[in-house]
Amino acid sequence: MEFIDPALLAYCEDHTSTEDDLLLKITRETQAKVMMPRMISGHLQGKMLELFTKMQNPKTILEIGTYTGYSGLCLARGLRKDGKLITLDINDELETMVRGFFEESGLAEQIDYRLGNALEIIPTLSGPFDMVFIDADKINYSNYYDLIIEKMNAGGIILADNVLWSGKILVEEGQKIDKDTQALLDFNTMIQNDPRVENALLPIRDGVMMARKI
Ligand code: SAH
Ligand code: CA
Repeated sequence: MEFIDPALLAYCEDHTSTEDDLLLKITRETQAKVMMPRMISGHLQGKMLELFTKMQNPKTILEIGTYTGYSGLCLARGLRKDGKLITLDINDELETMVRGFFEESGLAEQIDYRLGNALEIIPTLSGPFDMVFIDADKINYSNYYDLIIEKMNAGGIILADNVLWSGKILVEEGQKIDKDTQALLDFNTMIQNDPRVENALLPIRDGVMMARKI
């Protein structure tokens, strides 16, 4: 589901810096070879992530949910020269492809790509993080948040993707709520009530929650 008129979205994309050859290639190969290509961030959201990261000028970014590396590259492009992106994914079938893209980007030395369950890896990371992008299994969004919030630097930014879940977070009375939708409802409520952050839910693509550690 698109939340804005397709013609307006097209206009937004026409006025968003164009993707370079590598990002176009990642999109092409994701569509041709990978399951669920709709999960990729894509042009508008990717550039937004890149620009937010450039504003934040982070030393350490954590990404939860690498997939084919599109969002990770956008984030890595905003790192400080001595900065690092740690990006986690449980799906090792994509490893060769993703490592290839990171090599091609020229940023591989700044990207620590780790395979495994993020719930197990995050407790082994010391942080502190200046930026975190939560984009893995929706059911664990609140768990990921609990694991990272005390490892955020003051002023650190947490971005969580898909928090509008194609609009399913608007539940009508008596309607049955599936587990992912419930998890996102709980996550959004938790952020809204957490005095440790100030937040804005941006209606970009599938909804991006932005929370800044106070
Ligand atoms: N951030 C990517 C898209 C991520 S799609 C982009 O914007 O282009 C979600 C990813 O989360 C999938 O690749 C999936 O394998 C991964 N994932 C799901 N559960 C996970 C877990 N428990 N630990 C780590 N990664 C997980
Ligand atoms: Ca996503």
